[in-house]
Amino acid sequence: MGSRRRLPLAAGVAPSQLRDPARTLMTVLVSLSRSNHASSMTQRPPTTSPLPDAPALPGFSDQSPERWVAALSDAGLRPQQARNAAKQLSRAWYDDGTAWADCIGELPRAAREVAPNVLGAPAPLTISERVTAEDRTSRLLFRTTSGHLIETVIIPSERGASGGRTTVCVSSQVGCGRRCVFCETGKLGLLRQLSAGEIVEQFRQARQIWEAERGPAPPITNVVFMGMGEPLDNLDAVISAIETLCHDFAFGLSAKRITVSTVGVAPKVEEFLRRTKAHLAVSLNAPDDARRTALMPVNKRCSMAELKTALQAGLTKGRDVLFEYVLFDELNDSLDDAELLRAWLQDVPARLNLIPANPGPDPALRQPTAERVWAFQKYLLDQGVRALVRHPHGRDVGGACGQLAGTHRTQLERLAHTQGPHGR
Ligand code: SF4
Repeated sequence: MGSRRRLPLAAGVAPSQLRDPARTLMTVLVSLSRSNHASSMTQRPPTTSPLPDAPALPGFSDQSPERWVAALSDAGLRPQQARNAAKQLSRAWYDDGTAWADCIGELPRAAREVAPNVLGAPAPLTISERVTAEDRTSRLLFRTTSGHLIETVIIPSERGASGGRTTVCVSSQVGCGRRCVFCETGKLGLLRQLSAGEIVEQFRQARQIWEAERGPAPPITNVVFMGMGEPLDNLDAVISAIETLCHDFAFGLSAKRITVSTVGVAPKVEEFLRRTKAHLAVSLNAPDDARRTALMPVNKRCSMAELKTALQAGLTKGRDVLFEYVLFDELNDSLDDAELLRAWLQDVPARLNLIPANPGPDPALRQPTAERVWAFQKYLLDQGVRALVRHPHGRDVGGACGQLAGTHRTQLERLAHTQGPHGR
């Protein structure tokens, strides 16, 4: 283990207090907690409001192809005609990148007459900016029809026995109402929900871009909901998007290659696990309630005990949960903390990713030394915990964990102020 460094001097910490590390830590935590509380007083609650410019008909990607089979059938097509039309539209739009008007125009006549009556055009997203990091991680900034900006990240990885994979990280909300203190997106507050179609569209466009230029790099096979937003606060849209991503007519992904990351919204955990086979990842980030609440205000309402109870109730045989634990220097990375973590994890089927902190909005939350990270991991491995250290991708373009929205926060905040909550 490397030598211990002093905690940075946080606001409200007197120099004399540094002589008492335990007291100093508590002061920092209280300070963080108070600033969170102040933020939460102005926090906009999650909403399920429709898009401000929502079309009269649901957009094509807002529902899975299976639902379009039923809708086309209800509109008068024979079952096989309806199935063929939904399949043709899906292939043309999702796979071939055909313009929407042409997708409709190329349908057989009966379907062409019926389709515009039951389904709307897919939600358009326009690429506003793209930045690529040295490791080929690519951050895409999309503009929605309501003028909001959302971010999507393409993450290639050459590692692994399978020769590597490429993952798309999608956003589920514009901004986020959960206000985790280490997260740039949390500084925005929640601006509005994304529709299922807008989530799917991030993936479709990212895949088109990647396929056009990837060369020998692996194709996109994985999706993570780890971009802007708390997915369980927009659960219906997230589930619908997963259904489309997995549908044979569309992208045909395996649900096992989709991971949804939550801060631990306990009341929604069981429902998520019941409605989809996609993996669940939970950002834990602290070994006890006091520190978790200071870092993540959600813990005030959903304690670690409640979270564990929800997971134990929802995880069926053979399923496990991936816990993410961001390591902050001298805040949650001691061997005592590793032991607390081990004890908490012991009665949940779990894997654990340890993530050295990225530079974020709070300079007091720093990355530990490599020695401290290694010692933390080794302790857990020796105790039988499946713990991997994950190194962030795309840090130089602000596409790493906790950095999304940081680069564009000023622009996003301006949009929030001119448009009001949820784009209205
Ligand atoms: S970490 Fe996730 S849940 Fe927390 S504020 Fe950021 S986007 Fe929201």
